[in-house]
Amino acid sequence: MSMSRDQADQRQIPQPIRPDGAGGIDTGPRDIWRDLENPDQLVPPVTDNGLLPNMVFSFSDTHMKLNFGGWSREVTTRELPIAKDLAGVNMYLKPGGVRELHWHQQAEWAFMISGSARITAIDAEGRNYIADVGQGDLWYFPPGLPHSIQGLEHGAEFLLVFDDGNFSDLNTLSISDWMAHTPRSVLAANFGVAEEAFCHLPKDQVYIYQASVPGSLESQRIESPYGSVPLPFSHRLMAQKPLVSSGGTVRIADSTNFQISKKIAAALVEIKPGAMRELHWHPNADEWQYYLSGTGRMTVFGGNGAARTYNVRAGDVGYVPFAFGHYIQNIGNDSIWFLEMFRSDRFADVSLNQWMALTPKAIVESNLCAGNELMDALNPVKQPVVKFPRKDKAD
Ligand code: MN
Ligand code: MN
Repeated sequence: MSMSRDQADQRQIPQPIRPDGAGGIDTGPRDIWRDLENPDQLVPPVTDNGLLPNMVFSFSDTHMKLNFGGWSREVTTRELPIAKDLAGVNMYLKPGGVRELHWHQQAEWAFMISGSARITAIDAEGRNYIADVGQGDLWYFPPGLPHSIQGLEHGAEFLLVFDDGNFSDLNTLSISDWMAHTPRSVLAANFGVAEEAFCHLPKDQVYIYQASVPGSLESQRIESPYGSVPLPFSHRLMAQKPLVSSGGTVRIADSTNFQISKKIAAALVEIKPGAMRELHWHPNADEWQYYLSGTGRMTVFGGNGAARTYNVRAGDVGYVPFAFGHYIQNIGNDSIWFLEMFRSDRFADVSLNQWMALTPKAIVESNLCAGNELMDALNPVKQPVVKFPRKDKAD
């Protein structure tokens, strides 16, 4: 039987119809690209139920702030109202581009996506920190401490995470802003110089600006009379030996191994094709996710029958409220790499599989009417990322 070209094209267009016939054709208007990106929103699993709010937001749907020196965009409670614990900024600095000297009330945690950057900071005791960071490195600036970021030879793209969902990186305390709004006579008195010394001050907050690529770290080193900060403000996450699971890897950075990071804990997770981040929840905090690569689906379970499935892909922010059950399944052909962040000093999760394995058999069996196959599969050793039988490889 042959098919006309129109019929063949029709086949490529996803429709909100389940195999059992529920639903119906969508004649439009519609955004087919988005429907193709969100197969589990267009045709939700039959297990989805209830009224859970949106928990995914793409950085591609945010406002881009373009500056000479780079760009930034952010996902805060304005974009994703449920994400009250943390806010995130995706920023790029050109070679030499500077995120100006500034500070804020919130802790700042960062993951270097690509390139390299130089970070500077001091603490209240006058101890300084000047370091270069590259792909896969983290940094952390405690709340209230001043800092700067500058792109090196190849520029730098990174993710910033703050421990307050309402935080905006466009609303920080900046050195240029402060000096622009302080009487010149006061500035002159403060530094013991003539007022003319400030005649070239920027008139407003600078935020991001273009400068030249700095010299070597050694050439820029400033020795503080009080020494360097006792706990490093950066951390080589990719240099950490990963926890290897049957379907991927996990690298955890929290205050136990990245000691300065007292307000934000994180895990970098790799989910290989044909694998999933197992069913689990977090007993201490909401989860703010950032997807670096791949395509997947996540169902969030909120109790009382409420469950909703979301599709996730590179550039998305996902969010899971404290204690809500969830999994992330790789539905693509490439590995998913994503970050899990928590407003906490430590990473913690509870595994459904491990919980069942460590509970008396009789109660699990009777509670779930479980047979031997399931009972024998339970594993007392946590496997954060597990392989699953893939549909396309089934016999
Ligand atoms: Mn900052
Ligand atoms: Mn999780």
